[in-house]
Amino acid sequence: MTGAGRVLPILRHPDPVLRRICPAVTAFDDDLAALARDMLATMYAAPGRGLAAPQIGRETRLFVMDVTWKDGVPDPRVLINPEITWRSGTDAIHVEGCLSVPGIPARVARPDTVTLRWQGLDGALRSETFTGMAAVCAQHEIDHLDGILCIDRALPDAAA
Ligand code: ZN
Repeated sequence: MTGAGRVLPILRHPDPVLRRICPAVTAFDDDLAALARDMLATMYAAPGRGLAAPQIGRETRLFVMDVTWKDGVPDPRVLINPEITWRSGTDAIHVEGCLSVPGIPARVARPDTVTLRWQGLDGALRSETFTGMAAVCAQHEIDHLDGILCIDRALPDAAA
């Protein structure tokens, strides 16, 4: 999954594609698998921990993430038609960066734990609970599928 993908250009804010609400994936075919491979290659090359399809100009509900590869533990994930099915009541504040908004980190408060349901490349439903960096990344990437950027959610700079 990590090999053989093409590195694609990443769109930058204020590209209007980054503001669209992406429609669901309906075809689980070879083209989708190729898109996922390309997105992983692009994410690793950036280098980043997550990348959503609209960031490479594809308006479709798919994102890739790997929150541990920078620590030497590759864990490539492809999440298709993801939905948050549960959110913890506790928020955590993290400084988020975005490959489409380079150089402008944003302090964002989000639930610290979320349960996601999504489809794999085979179309099968999966569910998992994410916490820590994985929860931050997944919520950031799902926002991209709805045309939302982390700078939209940025808290004031002054720490409370
Ligand atoms: Zn982003």
